[in-house]
Amino acid sequence: MRYVITGASRGIGFEFVQQLLLRGDTVEAGVRSSEGARRLESLKHTAGNRLRIHELDVGDDASVRAFATNVCLSPVDVLINNAGVSGLWCALNDVDFADMARTFSVNALGPLRVTNAILPALRQGALRRVAHVTSRMGSLAANTDGGAYAYRVSKAALNMAVRTMSMDLRAEGVVTVLLHPGWVRTDMGGPDATLPATDSVRGMLRVIDGLNPEHSGRFFDYQGAEVPW
Ligand code: NDP
Repeated sequence: MRYVITGASRGIGFEFVQQLLLRGDTVEAGVRSSEGARRLESLKHTAGNRLRIHELDVGDDASVRAFATNVCLSPVDVLINNAGVSGLWCALNDVDFADMARTFSVNALGPLRVTNAILPALRQGALRRVAHVTSRMGSLAANTDGGAYAYRVSKAALNMAVRTMSMDLRAEGVVTVLLHPGWVRTDMGGPDATLPATDSVRGMLRVIDGLNPEHSGRFFDYQGAEVPW
């Protein structure tokens, strides 16, 4: 199957690419920098032409359009919107609105930009699935300790966007879900996080593999348990 992954240079995105290539899938990987592209190049010796690396900044309309032009040359089975930033973790008095706007553009608008741009190729695909990597930090019900305004607000907005998108795409048979990866040891999750990226991604792929139309518009964790909104 043919997968598109955003934010593939490191962390959870890189692990998605590794695991998909290992099981024989084809991956169109979006990376923001040449350094990220070089890191992925190391996977090419085993994957050959099953891995294609593209420049992609999900916060930039022109970059997303150029990415889609390359990727939409063939059908896409699964899109994984993974790219994300943490924004500044500050208290109410220290909220930085420019940082909030940047974080919103990447975490909430980025997946919308990419999904819109890739839709023509998804419609041609056999599976028609879109998975969005969100966070429990965007859950209203799970928020018991405040703070992290930029991240929480952006992920809560993403959650609403995906819920809405699921209804708009239902008639076309496109299944779209939100996935919480757990607390994962990456640059974003930090060294104290409880999960290695390998386990998180293995779990999320199991969830994605098992999706059916009943699941569309729902919010699951990497073990397939439903997360409260
Ligand atoms: P990392 O910080 O390790 O990696 C983030 C990835 O996103 C990098 O590849 C980065 O690229 C890319 N990225 C950031 N901004 C952009 C952009 N504007 N355009 C394209 N790519 C971009 O984070 P994780 O791997 O931990 O996180 C992946 C996803 O999982 C995120 O959506 C995050 O919110 C979510 N998540 C993570 C958790 C955790 O515990 N780690 C918990 C809950 C959710 P570059 O290398 O160029 O910076």
